[in-house]
Order: sequence, then structure tokens, then C-alpha cells
Amino acid sequence: MITHTCFKCNRRFELDPVYVGFELRKLKKNNPSFYQAVCPACRAVNKVSVKPMQAELDQVAEEIDRMYAEYEAQKAQERAEKRAKAKAKASESAAK
Ligand SMILES: [Zn+2]
Repeated sequence: MITHTCFKCNRRFELDPVYVGFELRKLKKNNPSFYQAVCPACRAVNKVSVKPMQAELDQVAEEIDRMYAEYEAQKAQERAEKRAKAKAKASESAAK
């Protein structure tokens, strides 16, 4: 676990490296330098430097890959469903 101290309220909170890695991956940026963590106590957005977390992120890289692959698969499925719906709608109105 990564611990971070909120810049605003000084509360310490934990970050799950798998989740952090997953969120960073979703940014689709090469080597993002910050992770934006929301403090659970005061909701302030904390910019957490990625560098000191890198070792922990590397340790769970496989889990992050898996989580991201599932996320992508789900998104692809949603897109396919949307397309199928649009197609059905189009043929419905064409039949009229
Ligand atoms: Zn806080």
C-alpha cells in the first residue's frame, strides 16, 4: 500500500497501487508524473508524484494489466451494444 498525507488536512490515507496504476493507465499518457488522489477525509485533490510509487506499481504491473484489459473489454462491449442498437433503430425506421 502507498500512504499519502493530505496537503490540506494532513490526514494520512492509503492508496491501492493496483488502482493507482489502473487510473494512470486510463489517462493514456506516457509516463504520467502525477496521480490525482482524492483525500477521503476532506475531498481535496492531492497531486501524488508517481516516481516514488513506481517500484510498487511495477510489482503489481500484471494485476494492473489485467484490470485494464477487463476495462477495455467492457468498453468495447458497450460500444458494440450501442452500435447494434443504432443499427436496429436504423433498420426499424427504414422499414416504415
Ligand atoms: Zn484531506
